[in-house]
Parts: sequence; structure tokens; C-alpha cells
Amino acid sequence: MSTDFDNILIIADIEGSSGCWDYRASSFMTDEWSQACVEMSLDVNAVVRALLDAGVKHVTVKDFHRTGYNLLSELIDPRAQVVLGYKRGPAPGIGDPGNAQAVMFLGLHAASGTEGFMAHTLTSRISWLEVNRKPLAEVELFSASLAPYGLRPIFFSGCPTACAQARAAIRKIDSYPIDKSAGPELFDVESWRSGLVSAALHSLNNGATEPYTPHGPFQAEVTWRGGEITAQNLARRWGFDHEGARIFIEADGIHELYRDLIRLCYLTPLTVRILPFGLFLYNLTGRLGLAWARRRLKKDKYLPQSKRRR
Ligand SMILES: [Zn+2]
Repeated sequence: MSTDFDNILIIADIEGSSGCWDYRASSFMTDEWSQACVEMSLDVNAVVRALLDAGVKHVTVKDFHRTGYNLLSELIDPRAQVVLGYKRGPAPGIGDPGNAQAVMFLGLHAASGTEGFMAHTLTSRISWLEVNRKPLAEVELFSASLAPYGLRPIFFSGCPTACAQARAAIRKIDSYPIDKSAGPELFDVESWRSGLVSAALHSLNNGATEPYTPHGPFQAEVTWRGGEITAQNLARRWGFDHEGARIFIEADGIHELYRDLIRLCYLTPLTVRILPFGLFLYNLTGRLGLAWARRRLKKDKYLPQSKRRR
């Protein structure tokens, strides 16, 4: 099979994966989460294996949920490189995307304040985020951060709302939805996963997408769930304007906007100064959490959804 791309980066999240059905399953160190890690790994593996079998030479998988330690690499085809935890840059969180030509997003979710399944942008503490009067989804930030390296966003999977947002923002991106409205009991993971694989394979011929480079200036309005006092403190900390629970950020370019949102959501001026050490501790926490999940899964002899009796 000939494809437009032979080096693919996959960015994987948990909310739009097949094992995450509620907030607990996306939370750190819960039983539901450790089980969701298995299903997320199996979703990723199905796509990875199909890509490699179709002739893609390199597949790198970047775990992008919470601590960045959710994927059980023993469940993923060893021909792929699985990268856990966060890197400072040059692409925030991702590091150096190397020679990847295209990026696929698996298991993502819709933007803060919108209808989708567990919708949020960067943190669930934001209740509403709009940029130039439109909700902003993570897929836009992540795609834009990879654009300087020439990566084309070719494929997206998440809830139907998340898919619609990705398609509205990024011209010609292919998408495949996961509909969780009927609940996990009626969900046929095998057939959903095979649909995901076919759609992902199809996107290997999606040479029509361009690297995502939205032009500024950008005016962001962030409404903080914690309310007025928290928003005020956060805005003052970084020198942003604010009014009530709303924080206003102005940025000339998308990279500045992303940097400011990362600061607002995850950092303090002190943690910026000690970022390498902070990231070390954060990654260590993630690693310990994933070790906990592995022990837990072994003890409970956890069976993937597809092996369970219905
Ligand atoms: Zn996530």
C-alpha cells in the first residue's frame, strides 16, 4: 500500500478513548482509571499496528492525558515508540517532533463549555474559553504547536462534538467519532475499534491537509470555574486583565497564546523558574501512578472489555 506519509506522530488522550465513561476514569489513580488505561492502550495499539502493517516506517505515540503516564507500553506493538510524560519544548509537552510528517489525534475531547463528552480545554477548571469569539479546542493548540515542524494534522478521533470542532477548525482533517450516549453496556468496542482503524488508515492518503497556522492577533476570554477571587488572583499573577470570573488574554500569535494559557492553567512564576525540576517531579508522580495501575490490574486480573462476557 502506498501512503502519503511514512512517519507519524500520534497524540493520545483518554477522554475520547473507549474505556473512559466518567470523570473517575479520567482521574489519577482510581480503579476506573487503571481500567481505562488498558482500553486506551488497546485503542492506540490497534491503530499503531495497522499503520505499521500498511507500510508506515515510524510511529511515535505521545501520551497527552494528565500526567502523560497512562499508556501501558506492553500492550502496544513494540515497533512503535511510546513516549510518556512531558517535555518542556520546543513543542510544549511534546518536545522535538523529529521527522514526523503528520499527526493523528486519538481519544481527544471537545472544547471547554461546549456540549461534548467531558468537554474541556487544558483544564476542567475553565468553564468557558473563547478565542476571537469562538470556543477553542485543544486540537487547535496542539496542531499549531507542531506546524513549525511541518506536521500536517490528518486525523482526529473523539466524541461527535469534538470531531465537529476539529473539522470546523482544521481544513480537511479526517475524523472518526466515538458515541458514548448509550453507555458502556451497549458499546461494541470491537466494531468501534475496527472502524477507528479503517478511518485512520484512510487518512494516510490525506495529503490535502496543511500544517495548522492560524493568524493572530488573538483575544481570549477565559471563564474560571472557581469564581471571581480565584480568577482575580490568577490574572494578577500573570498580568492579565480580568473582570469577575473572566480573564482576558491578548496575544499576537498562536504560540504566545498557547504559552500564556499553559502558564495560566498549570504554572506559577515560581514553577516557571524551576520548570525542569517541576517537570521531573510531575513526571515522577506520573510514573509512580502508572506503576500503581499495573499492580492493581494484575491483582484484579483485569479483562479488557472485548474479552468480557456480555
Ligand atoms: Zn485528557
